[in-house]
Amino acid sequence: MRLILLGAPGSGKGTQAELLKEKYGCAHISTGDILRQNLRDKTELGLKADSYMSQGALVPDTLVVEMVGYRLQENDVKQGFLLDGFPRTVPQAEALENLLSELGWKLDAVLLLKVDEELIVRRLTLRRTCRACGKISNLAVLKNPDASECPACGGELYQRDDDKEAVIRNRLKVYDELTAPLVSWYGSKGLLSTIEASQSPEETFEAIRSVLSR
Ligand code: AMP
Repeated sequence: MRLILLGAPGSGKGTQAELLKEKYGCAHISTGDILRQNLRDKTELGLKADSYMSQGALVPDTLVVEMVGYRLQENDVKQGFLLDGFPRTVPQAEALENLLSELGWKLDAVLLLKVDEELIVRRLTLRRTCRACGKISNLAVLKNPDASECPACGGELYQRDDDKEAVIRNRLKVYDELTAPLVSWYGSKGLLSTIEASQSPEETFEAIRSVLSR
């Protein structure tokens, strides 16, 4: 299965990608996760990406496309992949088309996760990230507004700069301007399915499964 998960920040792409990975065994490729790992490792790419990410802006296409190009050559991707957070601009989608045609691969579907904007802001401001393992937790799900320990590894939970409200609003604006045009781009290629993602992660996953089994 070769899929793209499209949707605004906070629409649940990462959560659904993990559920899909468990079910279908494909590689979960999150460009946000790869960039954050580079930030933690203080690589050249991480240092270049830092100022864009902390403001909620997009990292330049060339950097991200090169990074995805390398990732698509790794072994686990041969079983299929789920792209989460990529492509985010029309030039990135065009570059992905070229990368896939070089590999002789075709996309199976593009799933658009649709969520009301105010729900997104509520979800993201409650989101915390583990400094040690990078896992994302939500204070509402942990049922503890002051939780400071990662439930997976015990590491310190912190609020990413880009999960603060002003930056979230900017990320949503960037999404509307640069990423939303991909909806009609993939729609015109007959690849797009829209999923109502304001419901629980389990209900959203069921909706995805039913679309994929058609
Ligand atoms: P995410 O975790 O997918 O919301 O990504 C976090 C941040 O990483 C974004 O706000 C961007 O700064 C950067 N980023 C992730 N994916 C991309 C992409 N495909 N193109 C440009 N920037 C990206």
